[in-house]
Parts: sequence; C-alpha cells; structure tokens
Amino acid sequence: MGSKKVKGVVMLPDLKKKPEPADPEKFENAISEAMKKIQESDITSPGKGGLSVYGTSVLVNVINELGAFPTRNAKQTLFEEAYYISGENLRGTILRKQLTCFKCPVACKRESVVKDGKFKHESEGPEYETVWALGAMIGLGHIEAVSYLNYLANSYGLDTIELGNTLAVACEASERGLIRDSIKWGDADALIELVRKIAYREEELGDMLAEGGANAAEKLGAPEMSMSVKKLSIPAYDPRGLKGMGLTYATSNRGACHLRAYAVSSEVFGIPYKSDPLAYEGKVDIVIMLERLFAVIDSLTVCKFSSFALTKEDYVALYSGMTGIEVSPEDLDKIGERIWTQERYFNQLHGFSRKDDSLPNRFFEEASSKGEVYDRGMFEKMLDEYYEKHGYNWDGTVPEETLRNLGIIE
Ligand code: SF4
Repeated sequence: MGSKKVKGVVMLPDLKKKPEPADPEKFENAISEAMKKIQESDITSPGKGGLSVYGTSVLVNVINELGAFPTRNAKQTLFEEAYYISGENLRGTILRKQLTCFKCPVACKRESVVKDGKFKHESEGPEYETVWALGAMIGLGHIEAVSYLNYLANSYGLDTIELGNTLAVACEASERGLIRDSIKWGDADALIELVRKIAYREEELGDMLAEGGANAAEKLGAPEMSMSVKKLSIPAYDPRGLKGMGLTYATSNRGACHLRAYAVSSEVFGIPYKSDPLAYEGKVDIVIMLERLFAVIDSLTVCKFSSFALTKEDYVALYSGMTGIEVSPEDLDKIGERIWTQERYFNQLHGFSRKDDSLPNRFFEEASSKGEVYDRGMFEKMLDEYYEKHGYNWDGTVPEETLRNLGIIE
C-alpha cells in the first residue's frame, strides 16, 4: 500500500443491493441470542465488561502482572510503568470518548486528546497493542507521549506493532553501540524524531529502519535483536509467560500474529476453557481449535472479540440463518482447517517449512522477569504434535493426501 502511495481503500455500499437473510426468522433469533450473550459477558458487557469500560488496554495490567508483557525489546517482561499506559489510566487522563463499530454495543474503541503541550494532538486509540509497542517495548511510560506516537503512526500510515518493534531494535542497537545515533529507551523526543525519519526515509538510520525491525537487525549484523517470526514482529504477549502464544507465533501462516490463534483466550480468560499459561501440555489442541475458529470468524467478517461471548454454535446459527445453508459445528471446523491448510500450502509453494516455524532465540535463551524461558525441547515436541494432528509431514509440509482430503487439490 505504502509504496503505491495508497493510504486506504473506501467502499461505498449500494444499500439497495443489501443481502437479505435466507431465513429471516432464524437469523433474527440468532442475532438476539448473540446480543444477549454479549450483554451478559464479563468481558464484552456494554458499560460493565472490562473491554467496554477500559477498551483493549484493559489487558495491560493483566498481562504485565503475569510477567508476559515484553518490555524494552523483550529483555524484560514486567514493565514498571505499566499502569501509566493502561486502559484504566487512559480513561482517567486523555480519553475524549468511546467509539464503536457499526451497531456494536460494546464500544471498545477510544478517541484521545491532549489539549496542549508538546504532545498536543487528537486521535483514535491508542489500543492495547499500540500502548505496548509504543510504550513498554521501547521503555516509554508516558501516556501522552505514547498516544502522540500513535497519532504520528496513523498519520504516516505506519503499523504501530511493527513500528514499536523497529524502534526497539534501534534502542537495542544504540545500547550495543551498533549505530552511531543515541536512541535511549523511553526518550520520547528522540523516538518521535526517529519516527519522522523512518516515515520520510531520512538519513541512513531512517532509511534502514523503514525496512522494518527484522531487516534492520539483519543489516546491522545482529538478527537476534528482532523479535519476529517470518519477519513479522511480535505483538504484546511474551511466549515465555504464555506458552500457547509461542506455538501460535511460530506456526501462524503470516508470522508472529496474535489474530490467528489467540491462545490468551484460554490461558488468561478461560475461554472456551481455562489452561495454565505456563503449561506446554494441551496447548497444541487449543492452538489448532482457535486457528480453525478464527479462520471461520475472519471469513464471516465478524469482530474477533465476539468470540469472548459466543460459541461455535452461535456462529453456526448466524451462518445458517443468513445463507440458508445448514452446517454443523464440525462443518465449521473442517472449513477452518481447509482455509488454514490452504494458506500453509501457499507458503510451502514459496519455500516455507519447519525451519520457518520458530521463535526468536531470546525466548529460548534469556529468562523473563519471572525467570521463565521457552523450553526448546518442549517446543520441538509441540511442533511434532501440531504437524501430526494437522496431518502434515514432520518437516511441516502438507502431504498430497491431506490436501486431497480437504478438497484443496483433486
Ligand atoms: S465490533 Fe469489535 S472492535 Fe468494534 S467496537 Fe465492537 S467489540 Fe470493539
């Protein structure tokens, strides 16, 4: 998008051609049931649930207390200034109003304003991933400065997770003496100036960092400084404190992504069932279950946060009511599995295999603030189990038989 100078794509719907549900009564009932569950959930309940009251940044204190909040390029996992960038503090300081998506009663989105001073701005957000990436990950605990960085990223069209990780690489490189520039952790003025340089590819440093954290770390001869998988930088969950997320990052078809199989759902919220965040056992099943579910939710273009309140049966009812096609929860699993495996097969055709399903060495070799590492032996065992349960080969490639069974090839 950026290289084509495209900032966004706007589609204007023709309301006269709005699709009508095949079974209006069934669809209305499914919507009523879904809305009832959203109203009753501790997480999503409008005006009561944590997501609604404090926005996505309600997670800051929760994940930090678990020791799973990557801090200063994941050199630590507890951020001493976490409270200042949390949803609770945001609500009491820079929040102007809550925003929502079309017809959603949850209204988890924020709009923030800083009325004067050097961080003066107004902007949507900042969301959880952003307060982490442009906060803890770069050692910055000043909510106004973090929100200003978010405003800059949005104005320049930069992804905040990738930007925060890239700035973190710059801070670590500066600390190690790998670059001449002095970029200190938490130095808001220097970091703001660096974001501008990245956006305009100014000077050698800005030009190099504009290629993203993984490429910059590689160019500096220290690829281990990049917290990324398949060159996509990690989001706001440290795998040393949330073992399921480690498998999620390693196996996600687009790299270290939290939106493919959000194991936090089970490890922290107990949805659909509670698992110990530090346990390796049972995580393969959770990750595979969520990969399938999220592939389906994405295809339905439904908000993923709905999965905090709804079950697979609810999506079945919504889908059947809208399309008139009767499906079962097992059918949705199979559809999700087919989507997931087709994506994996696409990667395979471009040379990806087990060698790419890994994690940054820091997670295996350096202890978190709570003394946790990701055990390499357990990781390899989980990968074996993961491939076997998906019907893949030991090297992560997809055999023809699995492709045929899923209807991907004839
Ligand atoms: S649709 Fe999802 S992202 Fe949008 S306001 Fe509702 S819960 Fe938040």
